[in-house]
Amino acid sequence: MPSASVYTVAVRALCEFTAKRGDLDLRFTPSPTGAEGVEGHGVVTARRGVGYQTEVALSGDWGPLRVRGRADGWDPVARRLEEIKTYRGDLAHVPDNHRQLHWAQARVYGALICHQLGLQQVALALVYYNIDTRQETVFTETGEAATLQAFFEEQCRHFAAWSAQETAHRAARDEALRALAFPMPAFRTGQRELAEAVYRAARAGRCLMAQAPTGIGKTVGTLFPLLRAMPPDASRAGSGLDKVFYLAAKTPGRQLALDALQSLRAGLPKAPLRVLELVARDKACEHPDKACHGESCPLARGFYDRLSAARQAAVDAAGAGLLARERVRAVALQHQVCPYYLAQELARWADAVVGDYNYWFDTSALLFALTQMDGWRVAVLVDEAHNLVERARSMYSAELEQGALRALRRSAAPVSPPLKRALDRLNRHWNALQREQRTPYAASQALPDAFVEALNRTLATLTDLQADQPALAGELALSGADLQRFYFDALHFARLAESFGPHSLFDITLRPGRAPLPERPAASTLCIRNLVPAPHLQPRLAAAQAVVLFSATLSPQAYHADLLGLPANTAWIDVPSPFTARQLSVGVARHISTRWADRSRSLAPIVDAIAGQFAARPGLYLAFFSSYDYLDQVFALLREQHPDLPCWEQQRQMPEAAREAFLARFMPGAQGVGFAVLGGAFAEGIDLPGERLIGAFIATLGLPQVNPVNEQIRARMEAVFVGRGYDYTYLYPGLQKVVQAAGRVIRSPVDEGVLVLMDDRFSRAEVRALLPAWWEARETGSEQFRE
Ligand code: SF4
Repeated sequence: MPSASVYTVAVRALCEFTAKRGDLDLRFTPSPTGAEGVEGHGVVTARRGVGYQTEVALSGDWGPLRVRGRADGWDPVARRLEEIKTYRGDLAHVPDNHRQLHWAQARVYGALICHQLGLQQVALALVYYNIDTRQETVFTETGEAATLQAFFEEQCRHFAAWSAQETAHRAARDEALRALAFPMPAFRTGQRELAEAVYRAARAGRCLMAQAPTGIGKTVGTLFPLLRAMPPDASRAGSGLDKVFYLAAKTPGRQLALDALQSLRAGLPKAPLRVLELVARDKACEHPDKACHGESCPLARGFYDRLSAARQAAVDAAGAGLLARERVRAVALQHQVCPYYLAQELARWADAVVGDYNYWFDTSALLFALTQMDGWRVAVLVDEAHNLVERARSMYSAELEQGALRALRRSAAPVSPPLKRALDRLNRHWNALQREQRTPYAASQALPDAFVEALNRTLATLTDLQADQPALAGELALSGADLQRFYFDALHFARLAESFGPHSLFDITLRPGRAPLPERPAASTLCIRNLVPAPHLQPRLAAAQAVVLFSATLSPQAYHADLLGLPANTAWIDVPSPFTARQLSVGVARHISTRWADRSRSLAPIVDAIAGQFAARPGLYLAFFSSYDYLDQVFALLREQHPDLPCWEQQRQMPEAAREAFLARFMPGAQGVGFAVLGGAFAEGIDLPGERLIGAFIATLGLPQVNPVNEQIRARMEAVFVGRGYDYTYLYPGLQKVVQAAGRVIRSPVDEGVLVLMDDRFSRAEVRALLPAWWEARETGSEQFRE
């Protein structure tokens, strides 16, 4: 076992650090998926002879450095070591600096195997395998052991100063974290219980679901124990954490985590904790009109030549404060490198990373990929985890619009006949798919193989065309066609098609207004719709030492555990609410039915209830509805009947400034009712304590609309989770939205307020069972509810 002073580095990470030069160039991407890469390696190695070895574990030391990795292939008879790379398109378009990196890896492996087997010479082969054509191109060289050893030592020397710095940083960090004190004078009610459960999960290496109410300080309450769990325990081999990832569904959650880490960091002498914020490309990009390669973007040109200085400057800057978006940007611009890709590099060297769910759970998640490559021990915190089911479904779903394909075909005709031909072929397959369809929507449990094959062929053509004609996308853009967008959508679709299974369905939605006739095919949308994300998420859950999913609304536990694929030994904690029934008057207006058939009859009593409550206790309220249409109808009637009652409404696709203006009306001393939709921007993640919000009205149970898609989901849920089809599709997601929205009213132990649940179904036992235990709902008739 290496001692604490040994710094272990993967061959690939070492070479990426030492041997990458020149421009950042993403024209060669998208590269094959991980699954395609694995399959490609399998194809190549299966072609080799008897005795050929794969995944050969190799390691070697140089001073305090331990370099290790797995060589792709070794032929002991020919004494040939192979490094296999999969790719798409034209091999000539692999940038030189990528090839140099591949050779560096092969040479380091060559040195390690010569040393390990006592060889004087070895043959080195770079095998490039084309995923689409299934052909290999092989480059070879002969490596003398002494030359390879010199190369290996040169890489190690290059890395030595950095690894020494990292070793010292890690030691200082762990020592400081051992003494980390809780940053508040005392734990809040329930906060200690939560923190202890998180700590136990991290030490035991398991998942934890933590349902904990608003206001107990969940962010600090989960980060603090994980930081305390980072230093290894001297008595337990393989204990401790390399990194903590805090993943949020929305931007405000990220900011809360950064604030909490700031306060925790302030308690560490010399603050040796590197905290990094990852933001989306469109927020970090300095040249949104350019492409990510040196011929287009100045911050990509010579990126790797300047990266070393920028990386050191960023790490130095981390001592002075969080590596939040602005600080990373300042360092990047000072060194003239791209801030977005600099942040990605810094993820390797940060102790705590704050970012979106995508970075761990998505199909091409950066943090997940780095963790796998470098063998990190990480803990993953999933904030507002009730969002993960829907977010994961969308990550593993893909849509293709036929309208986009047709627009592209039209634009391609004068610009690129080969492109036009490829798109024509795909369009014919597409039309054939829907020729027999007589209903607007049809779902299937199987993928149309012929179409998927045609899509893959089209993708191969598009890859080659774009590589041969880099200006092609720009030329098409002049006529309004978005080749890149179509390409990436198609690629995502094709990749998800590879892992299609009972967790998803394939559906076709015909666009309205065009009756499908053989001579006049309708345009349609094709969708791979993920329903049960569990099979996709399980490898991600397994790759972390601990995953903590926390939220105020994780009930019913089984619903989330089933859909997310949590392991059977996942721990569960339900932290009791510090709030009391005295703080929140909950009324069920059971004289109102918000069922679809009763909607028009419900408008007047809803308006009466809102206006009556407001008259009895003027102040600031939120009124939630299940749809914009419903919201608009009630809003219009309230305005008509009570023109003096101040009210304002959430808009469809509200820009950020308008959202801020909506919230700005919730100021102490103000009065009125903000109308919003359940599940929307104002139904969770906003904090309006005290007088800023004294009550909420919730019309409907938030049940998703009954439509063909949801009915398909219900049927699939019923098949997979027998007896749970309706609950998993409608009831649980709906009530979760209700509880989230209602949670806006009481934000602290001193808040008091009113909640009016408008629908008779809130009286039912099965619905009541899904509401927080501390609520004491009273039924009201047509009389007003005016606590
Ligand atoms: S600045 Fe923008 S265009 Fe340039 S490399 Fe970065 S992300 Fe790409």
